[in-house]
Amino acid sequence: MVAEKTKYILEESRMPTAWYNLAADLPVPPPPVLHPGTGQPVGPADLEPLFPMELILQEVATDRYVDIPAEIQAIYRMWRPTPLYRAHRLERALDTPARIFYKYEGVSPAGSHKPNTAVPQAWYNKQAGVKRLTTETGAGQWGSALSIACAFFGIELKVYMVKVSYFQKPYRRALMETFGATCVPSPSPDTNAGRAILAADPESNGSLGIAISEAVEDAALRDDTKYSLGSVLNHVLMHQTIIGQEAQLQLEEADAWPDVIFGCVGGGSNFAGLTFPFIQQKLQGRDVRIVAAEPAACPTLTRGIYAYDFGDTSMMTPLVKMHTLGHTFVPAGIHAGGLRYHGMAPLVSLAKELNLIEAEAYPQTAVFDAAVRFARAEGILPAPESAHAIKGGIDEALRCKEAGEAKTILIGLSGHGNFDLGAYESYVAGNLVDYEHPQAEIERALAELPMR
Ligand SMILES: *Cc1c(COP(=O)(O)O)cnc(C)c1O
Repeated sequence: MVAEKTKYILEESRMPTAWYNLAADLPVPPPPVLHPGTGQPVGPADLEPLFPMELILQEVATDRYVDIPAEIQAIYRMWRPTPLYRAHRLERALDTPARIFYKYEGVSPAGSHKPNTAVPQAWYNKQAGVKRLTTETGAGQWGSALSIACAFFGIELKVYMVKVSYFQKPYRRALMETFGATCVPSPSPDTNAGRAILAADPESNGSLGIAISEAVEDAALRDDTKYSLGSVLNHVLMHQTIIGQEAQLQLEEADAWPDVIFGCVGGGSNFAGLTFPFIQQKLQGRDVRIVAAEPAACPTLTRGIYAYDFGDTSMMTPLVKMHTLGHTFVPAGIHAGGLRYHGMAPLVSLAKELNLIEAEAYPQTAVFDAAVRFARAEGILPAPESAHAIKGGIDEALRCKEAGEAKTILIGLSGHGNFDLGAYESYVAGNLVDYEHPQAEIERALAELPMR
């Protein structure tokens, strides 16, 4: 038997040393971010209560590349470059002529792609003399990643964790606390936003939008504190582009170029990180289909509208133009907790408007079917979020089988699911239910958009 190459491992010395900024290459400039009170474009000074200036400048950067500071590179090297795998066993299990590759971010300390931005965000705050950060977390992945990064740099961290997850996922909380973070269920009595929600509904399960309101308020009211967001913003997406840049070098080694790429989208950061460097090539004329995979229960790109909306529920954040289900959207309790945000990163949304990417939505039982199929072939238990990309990739591989086409498929495996065994337990017990978000609910939430 000919030895088949399975892992494409880049030398540390070949790890990319700059992040890629898609805004530099898009044919139109991104729409401005607007002040929630005045409706006028916000300037860097408006964002200063929340973010250190270096990150604000990255947010509005028009340079094509931003150098990765040496100290951040040194921490990246603890787990990067991450491996690119050829899924030989999955290909055989599917009996497909397609070649399937996956880029695996689960080797990071947090088990996902999120440390790629948590580390630089903590570092730039440290440089600016910030002592304390606040953030929100849904299922806990972002809170875990940021608590690790804050521990590296000696920064205090308070995490507002969506209440339903706080009680469903006590081990995530334990992980954050082990790294020294403080974690409270949101809505909490610690902020005006939290108290208002609790007054209206003491039983509120919380949502990412509510937790963002709390974390933003906490940071805005304290001089020693800034706020950190794990997805959606331009600088967050840019930090993730090391994923796609590495994947391109690794695919070159495999003598391959993807016909189609699948990534899962919550706020859009891992998808952007993997695909933006490929969109750069697509803009230069190279052919590649790029598909964003989202849950049918939170169909932001496939059924939301492209409009200005708030990033949070209490209407405190600036207005950004994005695909949105409305800031009052409350998602069903699907297990892919990281994919339950009402909005989509403005740059991912713009790429969709420009037809540079496509989107598909999948119900969760089909997603878990794909996840288990993948796990049994490849031995890695995927995060429920990542399993959406796997579902897209497996469907494509089966279409290749029908058509007898040997396409090259690249899947973004954003993390492992070793902390998500409650979800797999439900799947194995046959207790998973599918949610199709009702059109009437979408219309109700969209009717509350600020600028329509
Ligand atoms: C948080 C998370 C996501 C969703 O967030 P994006 O910003 O859309 O990437 C996807 N996969 C994993 C493993 C996550 O932890």
